[in-house]
Amino acid sequence: MKHRLGALPLSAVAPLVALAGLLPAASPGTGANLILIGLTAAGQLAWHLRRLRLVRLAAWPALAWLALGLCSYLLPEDWVSQAGWNRWAEHLVAGSHVDDWRPPLLTLMCLSLLNLSLLTRTRANLGAPLLMGTAGLALLAQLLMPHPSPGPLALSAGGAMLAAQACLLLAQLVDSLGGWRTSRHSILRALWPSLLLAALTLTLWYQQHQATERRQQQEIADLGQRLAHRLSAEIDDHLAAMRRFAASWHWMNGPPSADQWAYQAELYHRDFPYLLNIAFIDPQSRILRVHPPPDNTALLGTRLFEAQPEGREVLERALHGGVIGQTGVIELLQGQPGMIHYLPVTRARDGRIRGAVGVVIGLRDLADTLFRQVTPDTAALTLLDGERLLAYQGPARRTGPWHHAAPLMLDELSLTLVTRPGLDTLLARRSRLPVVTLAVGLTLAYLLYLALFARRHLQRQHHETRRSNRELRREVRNRARLQREVEWLATHDELTRLPNRRRFMQVLEEHAGIRPLSVLLCDIDHFKLINDRLGHLVGDRYLAELGRLGQEAFDAVGGTFARFGGEEFVACLPGSSVEDAEAAARRLQEALAEARLPHQDGAPLTLSIGIATLEEGALEPDELLQAADDALYRAKSLGRDRIELAAGPHDPSS
Ligand code: GH3
Ligand code: MG
Ligand code: MG
Repeated sequence: MKHRLGALPLSAVAPLVALAGLLPAASPGTGANLILIGLTAAGQLAWHLRRLRLVRLAAWPALAWLALGLCSYLLPEDWVSQAGWNRWAEHLVAGSHVDDWRPPLLTLMCLSLLNLSLLTRTRANLGAPLLMGTAGLALLAQLLMPHPSPGPLALSAGGAMLAAQACLLLAQLVDSLGGWRTSRHSILRALWPSLLLAALTLTLWYQQHQATERRQQQEIADLGQRLAHRLSAEIDDHLAAMRRFAASWHWMNGPPSADQWAYQAELYHRDFPYLLNIAFIDPQSRILRVHPPPDNTALLGTRLFEAQPEGREVLERALHGGVIGQTGVIELLQGQPGMIHYLPVTRARDGRIRGAVGVVIGLRDLADTLFRQVTPDTAALTLLDGERLLAYQGPARRTGPWHHAAPLMLDELSLTLVTRPGLDTLLARRSRLPVVTLAVGLTLAYLLYLALFARRHLQRQHHETRRSNRELRREVRNRARLQREVEWLATHDELTRLPNRRRFMQVLEEHAGIRPLSVLLCDIDHFKLINDRLGHLVGDRYLAELGRLGQEAFDAVGGTFARFGGEEFVACLPGSSVEDAEAAARRLQEALAEARLPHQDGAPLTLSIGIATLEEGALEPDELLQAADDALYRAKSLGRDRIELAAGPHDPSS
């Protein structure tokens, strides 16, 4: 019970951690992430309290939400477009984006796995150990992934989400580890290979994801470079044209007339529409001619030395030194950032400077002309002079998480063109392969776990069955042996291993039809003395020895020797006449004498034998035995160690 106590605070702490981390950042996805963490934590708490209905109530909605999120990452653009997903997001909350409703892919995976594990009631045979293990891997991958947000991860919203997931995973582990103790070996056998497959899948996913990302970054970089190159080339073309334009006034004696200026300048203005104006400036920096009218007419007569001090130095060098120059980015009189090229106009005849041509480029107009070649959804374009924003064109919706900055030279002026991908275009064009790899790989890892676990389980069952089969067989053998023993004991005497009285009677019945049929009753003489003087053990040994001798003697003539009780033995000799029986009895007596079984005083052990033989007529076992007993009694009374034949109807002599 102790291990489960930790799970309660851990589950409760997870949403609080997420709340604390996400609220200050208050990114658009905050609400969705918080609800998902909250639902998972609620399911976890309910599981801890063993409220299964509540677990399902929390886990199913969370899983449905996460599954929809996974679909939005997984389904091809042709099936459901990025715009389609956004429309659905808009239906839910106006102005929201699909990214606001789904966590990042790895977080989504981690939360899905945790909820699935809750729904499998954290049971090992339903794959819960793998689900938790894979959730741990997804968590680790999030930790190792390059993190877009600046600053230490621990303090960011992403860090809070990680901490919340870690709390939930830990709570589940603490809650279920105890329950897996009994099937620990089966779990471990199935877990390692499938966890390895999950780790490989994540690695493969990461590589494919990075490749996709790199390709998209390269596309955006190419776009930025192309635009920057075109912008620089445009300015170079423009400058070359302006030089020709300035040179064309060399052969004139005075300043150009208004008509001449308007005619020539219009030709250039048509080629370079972003030119704000082209002016002729006299040596005193006054604007004498300006095109196009009418916007610029007000500028006529303006003394630029005073009106535009930022450009004064360059203008002076053109007017007094005959040097072509440009102002760099300045705030134009037209109220936008731009730059002015000043080209001196010299008289061919004496080389004197007659004035200068001033060409004003509005950078915003220039950028707009070029930016128009790119649809705003593809990328956001920003033209910067250092930190200063010169021009911008961007998508109405968000931009992607990274950007590319291309440096560009506009006639010695170095600017930067920043290109940011439009998020929707980025997502729409992103390859679905990495997500497919991840989903398929993790599913395979899960199936592998189930297969290995089931196999191990079956193996164990098989093993158990074999073991119990072996035990059963041993038991059956034991019982059969006992049965045989019992049966044997029922018909034999244990001490002498001879048939007992009951068996003897059966044998007698079996030979009932054979004539002559002799029965011998043997009684050891003074056996009591053996017991009393030499002890019961010796008595037992003598009995056993006599049994062996009797068996040898009577088996040889096809008879049966049995223990009748105490120190009395009986033999049945089918087909033996009185003489044969007597001879056999004698052999037994001789064998006993040779066996040297002495009394305490050294006298040999002797045997008295009574013989009854049935020559004809029906067998009455009791009568036959009684006759033998009578003969035995006689042998005893006549001094023992002798053989007596029965008299009466069984006596052939009678
Ligand atoms: P006799 O027959 O010559 O008249 O004298 P006896 O001493 O043999 O006669 P009795 O029948 O009185 O004694 C038989 C003895 O055999 C009594 C009993 O203690 C002993 N006996 C019977 N069964 C066993 C046995 O299984 N083991 C041993 N050691 N003694 C037994
Ligand atoms: Mg006796
Ligand atoms: Mg006796």
